[in-house]
Amino acid sequence: MAGKTVYVAGHQGMVGTALVRRLARENVELLTVDRREVDLCNQAAVFDWFAKTQPQVVFLAAAKVGGIVANNTLRAEFIYDNIAIEANVLQAAHLSGAEKLMFFGSSCIYPKLAPQPLREDSMLSGPLEPTNEPYAIAKIAGIKMAEAYRCQYGSDFISVMPTNLYGPGDNYHPEWSHVVAALIRRFHEAKLAGANSVVVWGTGTPRREFLYVDDMADACVHLMKTYSSAELVNIGTGEDITIAEFARVVAEIVGYRGEICFDASRPDGTPRKLLDVSRLTSLGWHAQTSLKRGLSLSYEAFKSAKVR
Ligand code: GDP
Repeated sequence: MAGKTVYVAGHQGMVGTALVRRLARENVELLTVDRREVDLCNQAAVFDWFAKTQPQVVFLAAAKVGGIVANNTLRAEFIYDNIAIEANVLQAAHLSGAEKLMFFGSSCIYPKLAPQPLREDSMLSGPLEPTNEPYAIAKIAGIKMAEAYRCQYGSDFISVMPTNLYGPGDNYHPEWSHVVAALIRRFHEAKLAGANSVVVWGTGTPRREFLYVDDMADACVHLMKTYSSAELVNIGTGEDITIAEFARVVAEIVGYRGEICFDASRPDGTPRKLLDVSRLTSLGWHAQTSLKRGLSLSYEAFKSAKVR
């Protein structure tokens, strides 16, 4: 990667900003473009931009993402936008002669009831979790597209599957965010209001694995430098926690001391989503940031961000 032009697609998102922070420590020429200038769903705009800038290395961190309610409600937008972004960027990278591209999948591409921890080879071995099926199908399409380009054109396109991510730059929308941002905000607001009860969605029994986004960016740079294969690579910590325990940790970090109630009328989603990280570990990388430290850093970032 040294001395190359590196394009981060999605540089204003949580993952993209973390990648930009991490790449500042590398000897690369960083390329980014505002979405008002190049809409990644617009094929002509994407093709023009790649032809003009000819990036050598591409991180495709742009995607339409959200929590369980956003995925379940904006089903058409999640499948359309993600397939359009992937199709445009992969084809443009191919046409403009990019040397390497990293595609970001997601742990939700694995079947709802696949054996845990989730191994990379369990993709397409069973039905998906219904709440995020359109998003997962779009991500599977991107993975298969990267694989097909490698197979037919010899493109060095690799795919990584991050677990649930959190950190600075997260989306704190009360309904549409993921659980980490949602709970940081809800517990913080309850603390400020002196409330003595906070609602957490679902039964509290699902288990989730959480990775701090700067760890994710570090893993991606490591793999971009060292990995070249059609085989997917899971990126996670290898540890999970129930939503009930997780809510208690967030309450502690935020300093909320009231009651925590569970609203079982809200969806639980998939019961468990723990990644098998043995491939990543064998490639020489493991997560550095503990959940408590990552949450403290995220809470500080939340308080400095102007969240409405
Ligand atoms: P998922 O991993 O795709 O299901 O994404 P989420 O981060 O949206 O949800 C993870 C788990 O946290 C699910 O079991 C949710 O029901 C649970 N959860 C509890 N409270 C909340 C909340 O306020 N917002 C969200 N998004 N999820 C919550």
